[in-house]
Amino acid sequence: MATPTKPNQSSKLDAFKNILRLESQRGYADMAVSGGLDGFLAQWRKEMEGTGDRQTLRHLAKIVSLAYQQAQSHGGRSRRGYGRLTPAQRGVWARYILESLETEPVAEAETPEPTSAGAKPAAGAPPPARGRRPTPPGLSLESPATVVQGVGPGIAAKLETLGVTTVRDLLYHVPRRHVPIVHIRDLATEEEQAIVGSVWEVGVTRMGQGGRLQATEAAVGDETGNIRVIWYNQPFVARSVKANDRVMVIGRMRPFRGQRTLEASAYEVLASGDEAFSPGRLVPVYPSTEGLNQRTLRRAVRRALDTWAPRVADFLPQEVSQRQDLMPLGEALPGYHYPQDAAARDRARRRLAFDELFLTQIALLSRKRRWQQRSSGVPIATDQGVLEGFLGSLPFALTGAQRRTLDEVLADMASPVPMARLLQGEVGSGKTVVALAAMLMAVAQGHQTAMMAPTEILAEQHFLTFQRLLGGLGGATEEPHLLTVRLDFLPKPVVVGFLTGSLKKREKEEMRRRLESHDLDMVVGTHALIQGEVGFPSLALAVVDEQHRFGVVQRRLLNEKGRRPHVLSMSATPIPRSLALTLYGDLDISVIDELPQGRRPIRTRWARPDQRETAYSFLRRQVGEGRQAFVVCPLIDESEALQTRAAQEEHRRLSQEVYPDLRVGLLHGRMPAAKKEAVMAQFRDGELDILVSTPVVEVGVDVPNASVMLIDGADRFGLSELHQFRGRVGRGEHSSYCILMADDPSEDAQERLALMERETNGFRLADEDLRLRGPGALFGTRQSGMPDLKLAQLSDVELLTLARQEASLVLEADPELEQPEHAALAELAARIMPEVEEE
Ligand code: ADP
Ligand code: MG
Repeated sequence: MATPTKPNQSSKLDAFKNILRLESQRGYADMAVSGGLDGFLAQWRKEMEGTGDRQTLRHLAKIVSLAYQQAQSHGGRSRRGYGRLTPAQRGVWARYILESLETEPVAEAETPEPTSAGAKPAAGAPPPARGRRPTPPGLSLESPATVVQGVGPGIAAKLETLGVTTVRDLLYHVPRRHVPIVHIRDLATEEEQAIVGSVWEVGVTRMGQGGRLQATEAAVGDETGNIRVIWYNQPFVARSVKANDRVMVIGRMRPFRGQRTLEASAYEVLASGDEAFSPGRLVPVYPSTEGLNQRTLRRAVRRALDTWAPRVADFLPQEVSQRQDLMPLGEALPGYHYPQDAAARDRARRRLAFDELFLTQIALLSRKRRWQQRSSGVPIATDQGVLEGFLGSLPFALTGAQRRTLDEVLADMASPVPMARLLQGEVGSGKTVVALAAMLMAVAQGHQTAMMAPTEILAEQHFLTFQRLLGGLGGATEEPHLLTVRLDFLPKPVVVGFLTGSLKKREKEEMRRRLESHDLDMVVGTHALIQGEVGFPSLALAVVDEQHRFGVVQRRLLNEKGRRPHVLSMSATPIPRSLALTLYGDLDISVIDELPQGRRPIRTRWARPDQRETAYSFLRRQVGEGRQAFVVCPLIDESEALQTRAAQEEHRRLSQEVYPDLRVGLLHGRMPAAKKEAVMAQFRDGELDILVSTPVVEVGVDVPNASVMLIDGADRFGLSELHQFRGRVGRGEHSSYCILMADDPSEDAQERLALMERETNGFRLADEDLRLRGPGALFGTRQSGMPDLKLAQLSDVELLTLARQEASLVLEADPELEQPEHAALAELAARIMPEVEEE
């Protein structure tokens, strides 16, 4: 390794390096040397001057001076003197000096090789950077990946298929996993591990019967021992690995003819002095693509790291990283790709995971702030008389959970800050009643309210529910789309309108006129209600069913002039709290976590392959008793076209072969919306016995007479999906059943199916699902607005909570992120959740 020539200087230099390393271990507290580092340096300079070695002195002075420049580019004031730098700056400063001393021999500062050649890295430091060049002019992290040395157009094209186009993408192309490097002596049988050693000899051997198979075989040794390495079926490896090469080999050790043998799965010939790979460290394994091997990827990422990691602006406010004890970004990136050991990797991951969660929360909370603080809402005081009057008129008492969530909603509405709340509760938990109570409170104060659903049929269902819940109190429907109810606890009748796209033009115009003239107190319709053309002179509360993306609702309602309505979103999808905070962190969340008493659980049975006939006859018996059944087709393909064809085929089979005498309907995603609605209406009205549908068909309607849900290919679905399907039955007074068909379930699937049989709580199933499959599988990330979390795990509720707290603090201090030190933060948050910016 490169050291100064004279022994005296050499030991002095080592002392300096040791101090820097000690500083790194002790968090750059300037405690490594008594009197502080500045004092040590001054003393040292004097001694060096005494030796008369001007060249070394000048060289060191240059490195130190560049180190200050580096430190300043990482924020803070331009200061000289280690003692006056922030701990983060000290880290940059120290690393710069250490790396420079390692890569540039002090005596004769030469340009190092462009390969990742280097000497031993400092303890705890990432692998050595190559000699640092000045910041490439005009380049930034957003420059194309091709500015990274060694990334030509060919590699760039491959990278692009991985979603990597810029330097930043390359830095953030994080390993899927790491393989530990061990000493040869410590290799464990059958485990995926890596070794680093010298090749003693290498050659091609023949094996198998009659020696028809060729393999490369090598003897590789490190200071703890030797091992036989074998590359099965890869005689060509012998052409690139030579005796005396240093290699890193990944593989699994298995005894072969009584001899310890490493069956290689990957390898790299190392440049001399490459210490990124040494026992105790970890080898990154990247997500890759056809035609792009790990070696090329590693090299590209390493070069990007070498040049750019030290120049990454750390967007995290310093007080946040200090409070949360997070390592600087410039350290976390190389530290995660090439960790010193597992503990170092975990520290680096914590920082990067925190970033993802923090940025998401900044984006979500900014959106909420924008909604709540840029304009005022309509405070609606709760009229207790009206509330008790309404609740007393219901044929049931609210559950504790309904009462609690209703109170949360009413408290929001009483404030001039516009409500942004999500009401979560399983199908049948009684969300509609809670929403209706809130709407009545607004109406009692002379305001208008709206209830919106994703489809016409669901809107119709809400309208009918309103009619039942209010009409039971003595109301009457005078016109088909109008409901006027006299309630004895309200002085005036309540007028409810129904407005969807399927109304006749004249009816629609009439309904709009009534809305605008405030003849209507409530309107029930589809989401299209808030698509601009309808005027609500005094809309004070908008209830939105199954449109969870608040940004979407918000954007539409923002067109409204004047005050902002309170918004209550409703969702029947039980999801774990961590996921809810990530998806709907711009909303306050209320959960109805209790079903009304006396609900009959849906009996769930996993039918083994040989029970298919039994299942079909069970279904037939239920139909015979006047019930109806859903049949969900197996999930076959991502492609809707193929899926549709499969559903058509399933429909043909069931309607012609299995149930030729029954009325079997078909529902699939490619039908026009009107046709879909018509089929659902037919089923609801009892004109079909069995409804075959593709898995993608949205939230179901209430069909109280449906008592069987048969899910074919149930092993292909996650727990949450299965539970969602199951929720479509059991809404009436009949005993209901869910049959899970699976022809050849894997062991994992068997476990899921068994869990479905015994667990009825949707939240517990969703938790389990998140654990088993991750958020991406739980919800199609794109469509749900799920941010792309590469390192953060939603099971890490603690980190998520901290990130949310910190994001709130930052926004409290600088609500619009206008302060210059938050510029990078604002930009990144906008990038992680672009719709925030579309206001
Ligand atoms: P959700 O919208 O959450 O699916 P709904 O509000 O439609 O649930 O309620 C489902 C059914 O349960 C409706 O028929 C409703 O009248 C009834 N219901 C609601 N709350 C209660 C309760 N506390 N006790 C008994 N039945 C209830
Ligand atoms: Mg409902």
